[in-house]
Amino acid sequence: MDVKTKDLWVFMETKEDGTAKNVGIELLNPGRRLADKQGGKLVSVVIGYHTDAAVKEAGTHGADKVLVLDGKEYQRYTTDAYTNAVEYLLKKYAPTSMLIGATPNGRDMGPRLSSRLGTGLTADCTSLDIDDASGNIEWTRPAFGGNLMAVIMCPNNRPQLGTVRPGVFKKPSLCENKAEIIHEDFHVPAEQIRTRLLKTILEDSSDFVDLEGADIIVSGGRGVGGADGFKVIQELADALGATVGASRAAVDEGWITHSHQVGQTGKTVGPKLYIACGISGAIQHVAGMNSSDVVVAINKDADAPIFNVADYGLVGDLFEIVPALTAAIKKNKA
Ligand SMILES: Cc1cc2nc3c(=O)[nH]c(=O)nc-3n(C[C@H](O)[C@H](O)[C@H](O)COP(=O)(O)OP(=O)(O)OC[C@H]3O[C@@H](n4cnc5c(N)ncnc54)[C@H](O)[C@@H]3O)c2cc1C
Repeated sequence: MDVKTKDLWVFMETKEDGTAKNVGIELLNPGRRLADKQGGKLVSVVIGYHTDAAVKEAGTHGADKVLVLDGKEYQRYTTDAYTNAVEYLLKKYAPTSMLIGATPNGRDMGPRLSSRLGTGLTADCTSLDIDDASGNIEWTRPAFGGNLMAVIMCPNNRPQLGTVRPGVFKKPSLCENKAEIIHEDFHVPAEQIRTRLLKTILEDSSDFVDLEGADIIVSGGRGVGGADGFKVIQELADALGATVGASRAAVDEGWITHSHQVGQTGKTVGPKLYIACGISGAIQHVAGMNSSDVVVAINKDADAPIFNVADYGLVGDLFEIVPALTAAIKKNKA
């Protein structure tokens, strides 16, 4: 596809009530930097039903333009409606690139768009930049089981497409809303939507762990030694009003469920405070938590790699340190 504009697009996924999902707002952060480097505008693409709130959020988080498709058929994601709609917009405006959240919906739509447009898509990126020499986006993602970070470029085809997991980037700060809003009138007839939602089965709320939305996370690894060991982790989390996370080793041992797992094959988190207890700091774990604002590591091995990403390191037995911390926090609160 021939490019018509240097603009960079961010796909803003919406909820059924028309508000924006966090990941679309987060992507405006790297989007701003890439758009400026490309010499184009930052465009947010909002698709949904009754989308006023999402459109406003795009503007107050720095989008220069908001392209809006509002219609009943977009209230709930369907592969056909969304792929047809975004394909239409991409063909009409032909921007250089588009960032998509690596949500289940984004992971469904992104590859279909890349196939229809005959271009590349880099999935699950963890950082983004522009190669100064060529102007191509440098999409960085874990490769070979997370043992190295691959930098991928799409030099010959446009648009450049990539997905980024929720929580990798922080939301940009609020700003004055100066966005130009463009309403597009594109609708997908019902007969073109080949799927029907028959039933919604809500996730078992007892197993829902909102790690991505947590401000504080206390995580345990193999060092906690067993399911019982997570009691001290839970007590510290309760004292701090935090959510409990875990390494894959602890999950694989069956000490805690996968919904608590942080890392490459778990959740990507970005809390204000991340406390890693008895976690060595393998690259696959760090990939899921290294955008935390402050990292505290507790480990009895002074050479554990987790200390390389920690702001504060406590070398010692977690079964002495964690209860002492919990007691101190409770005393302080009292
Ligand atoms: C494709 C792939 C995907 C992966 N995805 C993930 C992922 O999403 N998330 C993830 O976490 N891992 C993931 N892994 C696994 C990862 O490589 C590590 O094996 C795992 O993170 C190790 O977990 P851990 O740090 O708890 O255990 P270990 O590496 O065994 O570390 C335990 C640590 O506890 C310390 N310790 C022991 N006892 C105490 C004590 N009493 N007090 C204080 N410290 C103590 C030890 O010094 C050690 O540093 C993945 C691996 C692969 C190949």
